[in-house]
Amino acid sequence: MIRIPMVDLQREVAALKNDLMPAIEKVLDNASFIKGSEVDHFDENIQNLLGVKQHISCANGTDALKIALMALEIKAGDEVITSPFTFVATAETIAFVGATPVFTDIDPDTFLMNPDLIEAAITSRTKAIIPVHLFGQMADMDKIMKIAKKHNLKVIEDTAQAIAASQYGKMAGTIGDIGTISYFPSKNLGAYGDAGGLVTNDSDLAQKLAMIANHGSKRKYEHHLIGVNSRLDTMQAAILNVKFKYIKEWIEKRRQVAAWYEKYFNAGVIIPKTLAGNYHTYHQYTIRVKHREAFQKWLADEGMASAVYYPISLDEQPGFIHLSVSNGTDLSHQACKEVVSLPISPWITEAEVREIAERVNQFNG
Ligand SMILES: *Cc1c(COP(=O)(O)O)cnc(C)c1O
Repeated sequence: MIRIPMVDLQREVAALKNDLMPAIEKVLDNASFIKGSEVDHFDENIQNLLGVKQHISCANGTDALKIALMALEIKAGDEVITSPFTFVATAETIAFVGATPVFTDIDPDTFLMNPDLIEAAITSRTKAIIPVHLFGQMADMDKIMKIAKKHNLKVIEDTAQAIAASQYGKMAGTIGDIGTISYFPSKNLGAYGDAGGLVTNDSDLAQKLAMIANHGSKRKYEHHLIGVNSRLDTMQAAILNVKFKYIKEWIEKRRQVAAWYEKYFNAGVIIPKTLAGNYHTYHQYTIRVKHREAFQKWLADEGMASAVYYPISLDEQPGFIHLSVSNGTDLSHQACKEVVSLPISPWITEAEVREIAERVNQFNG
């Protein structure tokens, strides 16, 4: 039986119940379930948090990527450069709009896109780069933006795992043309169902994104573009507004948990590195081990959860092999064999972290 889960949403709900119930009741009483006032309030909350002009809510983080690609008019014949070491949605949506995902390898220390490998992958068909701010920290945006400017490419920041992360003071999602966010329940700011959003500082683009998310419509029954039905429902916005109050505090707790792991691990453990200038929000705390299967069983025997993000590099997924281009992804493949993420959340205690760390130390020693 698992005593220490990866994320403890039951602990979270118990702690927030007194805040959540009146917010939910208000939505029920108002009975405005799509585009209620809580949705506008949530947009404002995220705009204030990130210091960005516009937040456009949508149904989930995958739709956010899809809507971003549609708004930038990326289509069949185009290529988009991204990381093979990410959740499937990053590349799936590129293929969904008919374009080709082009994979470049990662930095083995941070698991982030290695910006020094991007230029070699650019062709006359390249239209955009999608850096992924994986596990809670930002890819090297300074280098990526320089390459994008030089080659006239669009940049969509996949910020699903890194809300409120920053790099030299600049917020994740606000540097490229568009940032996409997921509010999936286990993300650092999670709804209690699916939810997503897009951020941009470009007002025209913001209007286009909002239209695409709502059937290409500006006014009811007037359709200017081919869009999708992807709206954030009022109930999820109300829940997110309650949780929003705690987001900064919860990220600080996650950073504390990472520091506890590092305090209790002995020197042999291969811990994740933080890129210079980054404020890491630790969506995941991911180490590397040899003999991963035995390692996970070793933890599970003591009731400690662990998880593998990600076991298969996207260029090796059966669904992508015929659709994508790979520019050498050996380090991604190696990471897929070795990575293991340990429990991290605002709810885990120092005693629990210490127990896990000691168990990890025993496996290594
Ligand atoms: C979670 C996630 C997504 C997709 O978000 P959903 O809300 O689950 O659709 C996209 N990219 C990355 C890197 C993610 O972690």
